[in-house]
Amino acid sequence: MNAITDTDLQPTMTLGLDFPELREAVRRLCAGFPGPYWRGLEKTAAYPTEFIQALTEAGFLGALIPEEYGGSGLPLRAAAVILEEINASGCVASQGHAQMYIMGTLLRHGNPEQKSRYLPKIASGELRLQAFGVTEPTSGSDTTSLKTRATRVGDHYEVTGQKVWTSRALHSDLMLLIARTTPIAEVTRKTDGLSVFLVDIRESLGRGMEIRPIEAMINHGATEVFFDKLHVPAENLIGEEGKGFRYILDGMNAERILVGTEAVGDGRYCLARAVSYARERTVFGRTIGKNQGVQFPLARCHVDLEVADMMCRRAAALFEAGAECGADANIAKLVASEAAFKAADTAMQTLGGFSFATEYDVERKWRESRLYQIAPISTNMILSYIGQHVLGLERSF
Ligand SMILES: Cc1cc2nc3c(=O)[nH]c(=O)nc-3n(C[C@H](O)[C@H](O)[C@H](O)COP(=O)(O)OP(=O)(O)OC[C@H]3O[C@@H](n4cnc5c(N)ncnc54)[C@H](O)[C@@H]3O)c2cc1C
Repeated sequence: MNAITDTDLQPTMTLGLDFPELREAVRRLCAGFPGPYWRGLEKTAAYPTEFIQALTEAGFLGALIPEEYGGSGLPLRAAAVILEEINASGCVASQGHAQMYIMGTLLRHGNPEQKSRYLPKIASGELRLQAFGVTEPTSGSDTTSLKTRATRVGDHYEVTGQKVWTSRALHSDLMLLIARTTPIAEVTRKTDGLSVFLVDIRESLGRGMEIRPIEAMINHGATEVFFDKLHVPAENLIGEEGKGFRYILDGMNAERILVGTEAVGDGRYCLARAVSYARERTVFGRTIGKNQGVQFPLARCHVDLEVADMMCRRAAALFEAGAECGADANIAKLVASEAAFKAADTAMQTLGGFSFATEYDVERKWRESRLYQIAPISTNMILSYIGQHVLGLERSF
């Protein structure tokens, strides 16, 4: 194979509708899971097992897994397009998206044995890797202050602590877990001494791991996870002990690009619903969309979504080229999170009283799209990253 040159690393991106066939295939699959399916699940906080199964069988959730491990080996942008189309079709990408970005940590930092053991089964759907345990109740956004401890004891680690808001843990076979292996007082940098483990949930439940669902505003499979001297085999440590924070940071850029693009999908769904309603609803002898007071906010949403879309594409192109993309991934996620919620909120206003009727699915998307400004990272944390790392301003915390 020829060596990679600087020219190969030039980021490129398509300006038109990229991956049109992939988009069409996702839309076709999603048509089988209309609004009533999602509304039905919400009533009992149930997991969309059939939908996730269909996505897996179609190969969509294994899009980023290299072909040698049974996936499609597609670029990050293709995965982003899949998530965007799922949401733009009214379905819920977040119920399966984690597999796409969590798997990257295993792919980039796992050893050959771990990769051949897990990746083919993840690609086939035999194993679900949908849970990512980072957030803790007492440390929140301050990830490096997390309290969950993993102590090496012979051939295993003993894990004790608690995670909160761990999505889909009750519907996942594996969890990527970050825990402290060296006490914070003994490291030079707070980012040192954290390690990443692949925890087998099936083997751990009732043996030092307990998962409790959290009742939440959206159907997201939210849970809190308790660890009490859980034994995790040492062979399940990903990469080197103490370097885990760097490994997850890598994956977080991918996560922000994917989540940003999925937010654009939600925004597009809401805008399409609002435009179609504004074209038809007649009040005062004219369609409401004829009024600039209704039309302009919709036009503004379109503008914001186009901007967010372009930023997501740019971040994905940089990521694919192996270039530094931290700032772009953060900006993409920030603008997309705001564009999505604005579109959802504008759709609520456009539909008037009917927006409160669950059958329109707009209130569901309004609730769902609110999350992007808080998770996986809240807006203030992005702004502080930009202030500090892009603008060179003083660190505030
Ligand atoms: C539905 C849902 C699903 C989630 N799924 C997962 C998951 O699968 N895995 C996982 O690990 N986590 C998950 N999370 C957690 C999510 O990533 C966190 O909620 C988020 O990172 C914010 O952390 P926090 O809630 O502890 O807020 P806090 O850190 O307590 O912050 C609260 C508010 O204060 C602001 N703030 C805090 N410090 C500062 C400062 N220094 N300057 C300015 N503003 C500040 C924050 O921006 C935020 O707005 C999920 C959360 C939700 C709601």
